[in-house]
Amino acid sequence: MNRVFIKTYGCQMNERDSEAVAAMLRARGYRIVNDENTCDVMLLNTCSVRDMAEQKAIGKAGHVAQKKKRNPRFILGILGCMAQNRGAQLLDALPDVDLIVGTQKFHQVPDYLDNLRAAQEAGTVLPTRIVDIAEEAGSQNTIREHVLEERQVTAFVSIQQGCNMDCAFCIVPKTRGDERSRPMDQIVRECEELADRGVREITLLGQIVTSYGRRDYTHTGGVTPFVQLLERVNAIPGIKRIRFTSPHPRGFKDDLIAAYGRLEKLCEYVHLPLQSGSDRILRAMNRPYTRERYRQIVDDLRRVRPDMYFSTDIIVGFPGETTEDFEQTRELFDACNYDMAYVFKYSIRTGTPAAELADQVPDDLKEERNQVLLRLLEQNSDRRNATLVGTTQEVLVEGPDKKGVGYMGRTRGNRIVHFAANERLIGELVPVTIKRVSTAVLYGELELAGVER
Ligand code: SF4
Repeated sequence: MNRVFIKTYGCQMNERDSEAVAAMLRARGYRIVNDENTCDVMLLNTCSVRDMAEQKAIGKAGHVAQKKKRNPRFILGILGCMAQNRGAQLLDALPDVDLIVGTQKFHQVPDYLDNLRAAQEAGTVLPTRIVDIAEEAGSQNTIREHVLEERQVTAFVSIQQGCNMDCAFCIVPKTRGDERSRPMDQIVRECEELADRGVREITLLGQIVTSYGRRDYTHTGGVTPFVQLLERVNAIPGIKRIRFTSPHPRGFKDDLIAAYGRLEKLCEYVHLPLQSGSDRILRAMNRPYTRERYRQIVDDLRRVRPDMYFSTDIIVGFPGETTEDFEQTRELFDACNYDMAYVFKYSIRTGTPAAELADQVPDDLKEERNQVLLRLLEQNSDRRNATLVGTTQEVLVEGPDKKGVGYMGRTRGNRIVHFAANERLIGELVPVTIKRVSTAVLYGELELAGVER
């Protein structure tokens, strides 16, 4: 009766929260299963970034609830952003749900499951339901346990939760609450423990990582707390590479830009959300930077690391976006020469300021603008990858590729590479000469004379 299946919707932060819940449940004696048909408990860790994401989870929960007809002791729980956003209201649409846990209560899940089981054992007549979406000070410090796969060499480390930026289209400040950072010593210790367990690449994670510690730590010698943290992780012997997501352009001060020139483990790959290239739309989105300032950040980073790789987030069709606004976005998108981008067609998100805005852009126009940027991105990526043929790239060997034909890993620029290798090299940084490329993947050959392949 203790087999738990966790289904995760949405972003890497949700994946990380689900992993921590799985680790806490295991420590409590529950078994985490990968097949939803064999579980006694199903937990849906949900996303609220768009209405569609919520509808998907509600549909799933409604379907799964059928199981309770056959097995009344089956437990169904809804966790995360949608739970936080809708709370007990969810029970109107989903009366068979037993557990609703918000984004600051993941650490309570083991206790709540125990309580539900105990109530079942006690044979209480009325179904026991638990709804907890309260805020809890320090909850950000509970996301620290990991469930590492065998020979896993990359890991995400949550450093902060919440966001105070209030972008007009975004529900995150409501679902994740105010910015809350974890103690730096705790994060560094977690990274050291991961290194001892064979992890070689750390991705520091948060809704707005560049704001890390700004209310808890002082700037030392003009160095922000986030860069102080990068310096400390960079000093951990076993760690070979550092990445982070998601930052805000406003957090790219001189110290962070300079850090790319002096912290050798900080990979030359930046995810820098632009959202729009029009100052008028950026103001309407409540994004406190200009296209000029954004371009300056990109140029400064390229000055420090000419081989820098960039990815971004763009919203096309934000209410009121004119042809001229979009042309400014297209022009800046092209000028920044992105290697990767997440382009979203604006959709009304109930509960956000933008949902009330007039001048909604027609869907076909959104799609047209979406396609323009995706074509540009493909051209940019093809152009960049073509320059890599014949070069030798440093690759972190992550393991066998999905097809089980060869091995895969990533360059420091976060490009996926496929090549022949052997198990002994998992976790090693190896030189791979790129032989051929596609838009998203590189194919190469190991450059280690005498290495048994
Ligand atoms: S900075 Fe990011 S998480 Fe924060 S409100 Fe804006 S889009 Fe949402």
